[in-house]
Amino acid sequence: MRTHNRSSRTCSRASCNLPAIKTLTYVYADSTAVLGPLATYAEPHSYDLCATHSEKLTLPNGWKAINLEPESDLMGPSEDDLMAIANAVREVGNQQITPTPAQPAQPEIGRRGHLRAIPSN
Ligand SMILES: [Zn+2]
Repeated sequence: MRTHNRSSRTCSRASCNLPAIKTLTYVYADSTAVLGPLATYAEPHSYDLCATHSEKLTLPNGWKAINLEPESDLMGPSEDDLMAIANAVREVGNQQITPTPAQPAQPEIGRRGHLRAIPSN
């Protein structure tokens, strides 16, 4: 359901006439700026951005930016899905992959079978 004239869009930043490749949507309820594929139609809180400006986002304090891959657009996920994907990506990115052994390594000294406590009688 895409229109064929999306290439005519230009960056919405002042004094920038480069072709737009991304659409930035401000989600005020979540203080989130969602940067996704170029929207097929203009929305009230959406701004088309060129490649340069889409990489130099300046957001208000406390806002977070979410970058959507173009592939996500094909599945038509809901806004909640997009938020979940973005959160999952962020969590993975913050995790350090350090394998933790099931048990801490301990020296074998004094743990041989014949050194068990023997009742004295
Ligand atoms: Zn621009």
